[in-house]
Amino acid sequence: MKPRVFLSPPHMGGEEIKFVQEAFNTNWISPAGPHINAFENELAQYLGEAVAVAALSSGTAAIHLALIILGVKYGDEVLCSTFTFAGSCNPIVYQGATPVFIDSEQETWNMDPLLLEKAIEDRLRQGKKPKAIIVVHLYGMPARMDEIMAVARKHDIPVIEDAAEALGSTYKGVKCGTIGDFGILSFNGNKIITTSGGGALVSKKHDWVEKARFLATQARDAVPHYEHSHIGYNYRLSNVCAGIGRGQLKVLDARVRQRRAVYDLYKMQLGSLPGIAFLPEPDGYFSNRWLTCILLNNTDKQVVTSDTVRLTLEKKNIESRPLWKPMHLQPLYRQAPVYGGAVSAALFEKGLCLPSGSNLTEEQQQEIISLVEDKITGYN
Ligand SMILES: *Cc1c(COP(=O)(O)O)cnc(C)c1O
Repeated sequence: MKPRVFLSPPHMGGEEIKFVQEAFNTNWISPAGPHINAFENELAQYLGEAVAVAALSSGTAAIHLALIILGVKYGDEVLCSTFTFAGSCNPIVYQGATPVFIDSEQETWNMDPLLLEKAIEDRLRQGKKPKAIIVVHLYGMPARMDEIMAVARKHDIPVIEDAAEALGSTYKGVKCGTIGDFGILSFNGNKIITTSGGGALVSKKHDWVEKARFLATQARDAVPHYEHSHIGYNYRLSNVCAGIGRGQLKVLDARVRQRRAVYDLYKMQLGSLPGIAFLPEPDGYFSNRWLTCILLNNTDKQVVTSDTVRLTLEKKNIESRPLWKPMHLQPLYRQAPVYGGAVSAALFEKGLCLPSGSNLTEEQQQEIISLVEDKITGYN
């Protein structure tokens, strides 16, 4: 059997090991050390917009701290994209708050600003002002941030951008993760760059980022003994992992180019087949194309479903995956309020993520393309 082709495996650049070796040589093997500060500064530089960055143990931890700093508490409501991974909204529940889900719009597959406004007005009518908005840039495609920020500002509700999948993406020339009040990033093993596991909290408000570092290191007050006035968390990134991150940052632009090239080849070779659709990039949007997703429409002439394509690839030891199952369809969240829901449900029904790693070889990609093409045109 040929080695498995994974959906989105880690892709080291080569320099990571030097930074890791340096951490070992200096014995900084803990969630403190020079790589952490350097990684934060280098990330802040990359993102621009004068942001500060706190390096954390995961993207989920970053969302959790953002909610805490925004004062989300028991009984509050937080608006969140329904079309996402559970890591976006589980931290709402960690705080004892309730997620209120907002459906996608067709153009970006991300939060629909009209539904967002409708939801806010409806919650206000019910006497409950949402405490925050979590907007996700899914698969690297930026959400419609101008409209979303306008609605949020009008109602004075802070915005957390979940850019876990969108490091390197830009919206009207501005990096995703720097537009809202908070941005969060993930460096999990499957993301565009990785620290093995890790995440970051981003904000233009440097005091908020400083507070996140404090909360992430057990909220220890500034005295010699261990004194605590706040609940703290063990959410800091380790110095060893930050070393990996520093090496990965050096190849981030290359990884974006490579992922986009993977998308372009799929699009060029499969884009004109009947019943297949890709997610185009609207003017002013620049996606890192973290994963290439296809939609298969079950029209009269074309009855190939995304699941038959997935099973065809699986037989050749190639991993593909349905799109994220919307949160409002998850057993966990069946009681949560939702506005709209049909758009993301249809995307889930028809969609498939194809292997999109920046280290996918052209030979591997050509095999995937042939398999998909043969299935769609009915040779198999
Ligand atoms: C990966 C991911 C997260 C969570 O990041 P972790 O680092 O795995 O905790 C959150 N939101 C989205 C959209 C993600 O893809």
